[in-house]
Amino acid sequence: MHEYAVVSELINALLPQAETIEGRIVGVILKKGELRILSDQALANAFELLAEGTPFEGARLIVELVSVSVSCSSCGYEGAVDHVSDEVFHFAVPILSCPKCQSKVDVQAGRELFVDRLSVQTPAETDSR
Ligand SMILES: [Zn+2]
Repeated sequence: MHEYAVVSELINALLPQAETIEGRIVGVILKKGELRILSDQALANAFELLAEGTPFEGARLIVELVSVSVSCSSCGYEGAVDHVSDEVFHFAVPILSCPKCQSKVDVQAGRELFVDRLSVQTPAETDSR
């Protein structure tokens, strides 16, 4: 399962930072580009499993979707792209060509996958967010 490997890598990368945090980590906010074909549910399940025995145990993985954004060198268009709905997977698939002139575009956003921030609860406050 691809999600499992991805989450394992994220947790390992975060561990050194997590061990220095005072308080309880209650949430891990993950930014996921639209072009990353990863199931949010599978990511959450993998996180719950892999967090056991780490400072992330009991925390929730919150996935925030980053929309695709492109720039076109032919006509100068910058921004979102059109989507086509995929009947097999039941989600909207971004079309990676210029919505104005159909040229090939450079992807500016939509491929990212990183932990944006951690939500930490310290004894002094009830909610840090
Ligand atoms: Zn264009």
